[in-house]
Amino acid sequence: MPKRPPVHMAAGARTPEEAKATSKRHFDRQRRRASPWRLWYGLAVWKAARLAQLALQPLCERHLARDQVVPATVVNHRLPHRGVWDLFIDPTNHESVCKACHDGEIQREEAQLRASRDLIAQ
Ligand SMILES: [Zn+2]
Repeated sequence: MPKRPPVHMAAGARTPEEAKATSKRHFDRQRRRASPWRLWYGLAVWKAARLAQLALQPLCERHLARDQVVPATVVNHRLPHRGVWDLFIDPTNHESVCKACHDGEIQREEAQLRASRDLIAQ
């Protein structure tokens, strides 16, 4: 089997892996600047609120509404908090969901909400 030819790079050039890592760090930094409240997810008060919600309702509420029993692993904010602390930490705004519901159904709902808000703003 032929060997792969050597790759010659300019001095100081980044490998694709280095470029990807730098790009991810840049992306993460931009996200933190645009949404500093993301750091709230690291706070002990959030971790305690999350565990309390999952203890109170250990099943996915979206699946339960369809008579399906699926363990919840994510605490969703029923009303997106968008950096409003009171909405972030209010237990009545917390909903136990599975990752599939959070990453699918809920992300689609929030995208629709953003799109309709953008339409109203125009
Ligand atoms: Zn679910």
